[in-house]
Amino acid sequence: MDAFICVTCGVQQVPSDRPPSTCPICQDERQYVRQSGQEWTTLDAMGSIGHRIELRDLEPGLTGVGIEPSFGIGQRALLVQTPDGNVLWDCVGYIDDAAVETIRSLGGVAGVAMSHPHFYGAMVEWSRAFAGAHIHVPEADMEWVQRPDGAVRPWSGALELVPGVTLVQCGGHFEGSAVLHWKGGAGGRGALLVGDTMTVVQDVRYVSFMRSYPNIIPLPASEVRRIVDAVRPYAFDRVYGGWWDRVMPSGGIEAVERSAHRYLHWIGARQPS
Ligand SMILES: [Zn+2]
Ligand SMILES: [Zn+2]
Repeated sequence: MDAFICVTCGVQQVPSDRPPSTCPICQDERQYVRQSGQEWTTLDAMGSIGHRIELRDLEPGLTGVGIEPSFGIGQRALLVQTPDGNVLWDCVGYIDDAAVETIRSLGGVAGVAMSHPHFYGAMVEWSRAFAGAHIHVPEADMEWVQRPDGAVRPWSGALELVPGVTLVQCGGHFEGSAVLHWKGGAGGRGALLVGDTMTVVQDVRYVSFMRSYPNIIPLPASEVRRIVDAVRPYAFDRVYGGWWDRVMPSGGIEAVERSAHRYLHWIGARQPS
């Protein structure tokens, strides 16, 4: 049996004899099935056509984890390293021995957590490569787990995974959409790792907020305000989005507030005070 991986979203399914007929994550209105139809692959098939994990040092204590050539929605994960343990934030739909070995030399992975289901990738493979590291999934999004596993741990609200590294549930894109606050990031000014709970846009001085990014379905004012309210208590300067080129180098909460203000204006909502 193979654990098939959806070519469009990169999320791995429970092992089966034959590829599943549909991918529930891509069937949802927040994703899409390619016009050419549903396609599946496996880790072995990906390896045989030359996919590999690319690791990039982004700043002291932070390593990017991506797939080359690009796969799925092109996302990359982030490994936050602390003296008390490392957290893999977000996931990708592939894993290889070379990356596992390098990450072990950096202290391994104590816990895995994702911003939302579009970044679940091959999370069970990553957990198993690191002694069954716990996979933290928001209670509200448990229905989106495509490959249930004993390492999955439900959570809600906020959860400090290791000292100074805290999961914060924001809602919006998904009810369980979360960010990871890394107190020691950006030279101690703090960093917010957001996936696309809020997304760092092409103009990296701003973020934006959507129910669906590919299908361009906006969020209502109440959800945008809820996301900003959830992150306001945390000190941060830098914002890491879910892709290599989506990083807001500085600006912190002021930039997030300014982004929300602009968004609320253009959806015709009253501006926040
Ligand atoms: Zn899919
Ligand atoms: Zn998404």
